[in-house]
Amino acid sequence: MKLKVSLLILLAIALCLAVLIDQRVNLLLLTMASSEPPALLEPQDQGSDVSWFDDYYTVQAIDEKTFAIGEPRYFQKNFNYLIVGESRAIVFDAGTGQRDIRSVVQTLTDLPVTFIPSHLHYDHIGSDIFFDQTALINLPHLKARTIDNALALTRFEHLGEVEGFGPAVIQVDQWLSPNEVIDLGGRFLTVLYTPGHTPDSISLFDAEAGYLFAGDFLYPGPLYAFLPNSSLGDYLQGAETIQAAGQGQLRVFGAHRDEAIGLPELGLDHVIALKNSLLEIRSGAADATGIYPVSYDIDDRVVLLSEPKWLQNWEVMYPSLHPKAGGHINK
Ligand SMILES: [Zn+2]
Repeated sequence: MKLKVSLLILLAIALCLAVLIDQRVNLLLLTMASSEPPALLEPQDQGSDVSWFDDYYTVQAIDEKTFAIGEPRYFQKNFNYLIVGESRAIVFDAGTGQRDIRSVVQTLTDLPVTFIPSHLHYDHIGSDIFFDQTALINLPHLKARTIDNALALTRFEHLGEVEGFGPAVIQVDQWLSPNEVIDLGGRFLTVLYTPGHTPDSISLFDAEAGYLFAGDFLYPGPLYAFLPNSSLGDYLQGAETIQAAGQGQLRVFGAHRDEAIGLPELGLDHVIALKNSLLEIRSGAADATGIYPVSYDIDDRVVLLSEPKWLQNWEVMYPSLHPKAGGHINK
């Protein structure tokens, strides 16, 4: 009888654990959720080369045609980028949409502006703000769901529920192929497919200036590689794609920053450190700290947060987009 009872207890514990593991993503979102936008941080001096646009946005010129538009009072400290050519401009990311970034952009350029999200999370797509032109990475799993130029985001693509944002729809006016070169008039940006954080993440590469706008793929601080759509295999592909494209000097501008004041800027050495760490994590040679998510130190400025070893996802969603495979979607 005693044996029977202990077996039943063991079975119940195992069942609870299985449910916990299976539902970990929903539990994680529950712990992250605040159901409404968080209160703004107190304004802080951002340094002499940064000007406040209003009481929310900051503007910093990287050069006379490249601007970082910061949100230092938002707890995630987002950075969006305005990249200007001679005939048109790109806005790369638009924050959560709690303030309309178009009013900042209008003071910096008169040219037609195309919005490109680095990925589809709620804190980058500028919810409910519609640009004249929006361009999106042409990936089969996105294009197949787009009806009349409108793409309804899935719950995990958007994650808006953690700050009380409802379901989102993106208006797609133009599709960008991976490795496509965007001509802004005398200035060229290559669309690099850099998944990992999400399967829809891209970076924009200005080869002539040596700038890489990396979105959430890489920035100073903790990288989120444990979210529902994250994949470490994709992350490795993204790092190898940047390394293949960005020889020599590279200024990497990320979409968030840590506590340090200033631009969230890193270099090619951080991309290579990330790649090497991913290879070590995959082989089992890297040590993690913490329980969930676990944390791997990449270097003195970057930390990678992932699922523990036995739950890690090393699947690659679009292997044909790896530079060694040619970098094209297989039709
Ligand atoms: Zn983000």
